[in-house]
Amino acid sequence: MLPKGILMTEITPDPTSATAATATCARCDRTLSGDDRVEADDRVFCRSCHETLRHQIELSLGAMSSDINYPMAFVGAVLGGAAGAALWWGFTVLTKISFGLIAVAIGYAVGWGTIRFAGDKRSRGLQVLSAAVALASYFVATYLVNATFINKALAERGDGQRIAMLPTDPALFARVVAVGFGLMDFVFLAIVL
Ligand SMILES: [Zn+2]
Repeated sequence: MLPKGILMTEITPDPTSATAATATCARCDRTLSGDDRVEADDRVFCRSCHETLRHQIELSLGAMSSDINYPMAFVGAVLGGAAGAALWWGFTVLTKISFGLIAVAIGYAVGWGTIRFAGDKRSRGLQVLSAAVALASYFVATYLVNATFINKALAERGDGQRIAMLPTDPALFARVVAVGFGLMDFVFLAIVL
């Protein structure tokens, strides 16, 4: 065993474990003693600095979720949803592939539009708003895709009936959306065969 003094000089202190011995506050450089220390992530602060920082974070978080322009956020959500639904519709009709991941794209587009139009703010209310708009966009996209394939099937059968691409009738809307993936699968199967 080496004498203690030699050990102390030869071993370079590990920055992570050294903080435990003689730590100073990461903000005011005061030497921390006793229980006057709060560890936050990889840093140590004295109690008063930690309080100050926490207060600052709370203030900036508060500013982020206050004065939210919900009408504008709604406009952004709907624009994002419309773009996502149009993308999904176009993709599905062109490729005839029901690509479930596009549903994620709708959610992403709605979230992006919401945050952009709300002035880069976030809140629980905005989350609920964009989730609701994303769900509605998902149904509209499903309607558009289903209506397109139903109309195509009708045309191929020589049937003169067509489903309106603008979903104005709620009952028809619900029925076309409910046809859902059962019919989609059938149509895709028919195409493959
Ligand atoms: Zn401090």
